[in-house]
Amino acid sequence: ATENKAVITLFGATGDLAKRKLYTALFKLYQKGYLADHFALLGTSRHEYSDEEFQEVVRNSIKDVEETRDGEAADFSKHFFYKSHDVTKPEHYTILKKRIEELDKQFGTEGNRLFYMSMAPQFFGTIAMNLKKQDLLSDDGFNRLVIEKPFGRDFDSAKKLNDALSQTFDEDQIFRIDHYLGKEMVQNIQALRFGNTIIESLWNNRYIDNVQVTLSEKLGVEERAGYYDQSGALRDMVQNHIMQIVAQLAMEQPVSFTDTDVRVEKIKALRSLRVYTPSEAAANFVRGQYDAGDGTEAYRSADGVDPESGTETFVAAKLLFDNYRWSGVPFYVRTGKKLADKFTRIDVVFKKPLIDIFADPRNESDQSLNSNVLTIFVEPKSGFAMQLNAKRAGQGFTTQPVDLKYLQSDSDKKESPEPYERLFHDALEGNHTNFASWAEIAYAWKFVDVIRKLWDIEKPQFPNYTPGSMGPAASDELLARDGRKWVYRL
Ligand code: NAD
Repeated sequence: ATENKAVITLFGATGDLAKRKLYTALFKLYQKGYLADHFALLGTSRHEYSDEEFQEVVRNSIKDVEETRDGEAADFSKHFFYKSHDVTKPEHYTILKKRIEELDKQFGTEGNRLFYMSMAPQFFGTIAMNLKKQDLLSDDGFNRLVIEKPFGRDFDSAKKLNDALSQTFDEDQIFRIDHYLGKEMVQNIQALRFGNTIIESLWNNRYIDNVQVTLSEKLGVEERAGYYDQSGALRDMVQNHIMQIVAQLAMEQPVSFTDTDVRVEKIKALRSLRVYTPSEAAANFVRGQYDAGDGTEAYRSADGVDPESGTETFVAAKLLFDNYRWSGVPFYVRTGKKLADKFTRIDVVFKKPLIDIFADPRNESDQSLNSNVLTIFVEPKSGFAMQLNAKRAGQGFTTQPVDLKYLQSDSDKKESPEPYERLFHDALEGNHTNFASWAEIAYAWKFVDVIRKLWDIEKPQFPNYTPGSMGPAASDELLARDGRKWVYRL
């Protein structure tokens, strides 16, 4: 492994995300040699900590990761330092600047600086502005900004945020996290499509009937209720994760597998996504909120949720791309909380043969052939399956669907880095492939804003689905109207 050299300044160093994901991700990079002698992390937040106390926080956060040698975690934690800091006070940035410069010298990081914002989004703009005003960027190495979701609440606030960041950082210095893009099987979409003639040659409206994307959660809102009630599934899941997955499914083949070329194609795909009129949006979007049942309370009864809340915990939608490849092929997407199971999968449903020579000509309702379905299992299992029609063994001639299936082995799974490990490494390498660009985010918000505005005006009939189901009946009707069904159903 080639060592990445940098001083990482982490805003929100005592937060939940830092403790649950970020320190573990960095430790794994350290174990693999991507981080070694020449890195330091300067943590900041409102808490008062000494360096030693902070190092203990870090060691606690990584205690479940097995060491590859004695003393590894302790050595790793010696790269961590701390300054308490109020992000709204300009004079505090001067203190950070001095500390960063010292750490740069001490660890020989060659002026490379990575700023990671892992705190409430209302501070992102303020921090970026102060980084520039108080002159925290270096002149010799790289300066990069990694920024957590959510990126705005609608197009206008996202643009405002982006304008604020752009005062300090250029687009190629900004890395907007969408952790779904760090998942192994989301990345595998590209390998499957552009590495296989038998798939990519059929990847269009002549052979594909419809595409289905499901991000299903089993949990409810739990501790994040206060945040979630202000957000809802449309903002929390559709605008970012679903849009990013759909863009990868719909995009044209990039000229090369570099971040610049991949971005161009994802942006083009999102540009061709049909932005609905309000009445089209009403017809093509379904929202839901879970009721009590299955031994759990209703969303509206959760702590921190308005008892009359109109926030959606479920969204299903039909998306259409107006381009040569996809014209006429619906992309059905859905996501929700308190559904039957926790999983993410993509089902690509192919058209049936034009003529079914195996059907009984005397029986009109005899439909012996199934559609071929390519399923990409993103999580918790990773892999894919192809459903084909084959002859049923035995006398006579009937067909039955059979599965060609590949699931990653446990050892492969162990090899795959967690999303945050991969994304941290990409940011240190300066690779944008798995981050969302401003143009993508802008198109996604413009698409989502139409639905959000409509839903903010019209009062929903909530609650409308039971925990443990796959959402409200209207989600099935959305497909039934087109003579289709969800491939995954109960
Ligand atoms: P958190 O509330 O647990 O932590 C916030 C951190 O910011 C704390 O360290 C706090 O001390 C610090 N902070 C708050 N106000 C400050 C101020 N005025 N000055 C200095 N420091 C201040 O938040 P979190 O859950 O860690 O989330 C951080 C970011 O990551 C958010 O943007 C969130 O949306 C995103 N995110 C979190 C998760 C998750 O699982 N927690 C998942 C995805 C994205």
